[in-house]
Amino acid sequence: MMSSEQSLVRVGKVPFGKGVFARKDIPAGMTIGLVEGRVIDDPDYATSYCIDLGGSLSLEPRAPFRYLNHCCSPNSTLCIAEVTYPDGTPAPAEVTVETLTIIPKGAELTIDYCWSAYGAIKCLCGSPVCRGWVVSAEELPKLLQANNLKVG
Ligand SMILES: [Zn+2]
Repeated sequence: MMSSEQSLVRVGKVPFGKGVFARKDIPAGMTIGLVEGRVIDDPDYATSYCIDLGGSLSLEPRAPFRYLNHCCSPNSTLCIAEVTYPDGTPAPAEVTVETLTIIPKGAELTIDYCWSAYGAIKCLCGSPVCRGWVVSAEELPKLLQANNLKVG
């Protein structure tokens, strides 16, 4: 069902690994596709790519969306929807990728990783509003305080 939608994007090379690029102009506010992958039930599970599904669940995504890179001013976002099994019991949440702005053909799709201050790394996204760290805006003051750093 999602295969035609996923053909909107392709995986390509970026200087530090891989990224996801638009195959054609994509309008703003569009659901590009479902993030498929392995659901892991472990509260301590953490990798560079995993998506927190709430509770003890994480999603280890498969390509292409595995390769979505972080940007402090992203053009896409992850939408996490609560879903239930037919009998009404909670199922692992569904994650889709939606565009925030128009993405011209050939441009890289980016999301805000919104990491916690713990585990944050330096950000090289190059955005004019780059926070300097791959960390959520809310956690940034905590990170700077912990490292005795100033913005800029
Ligand atoms: Zn940045």
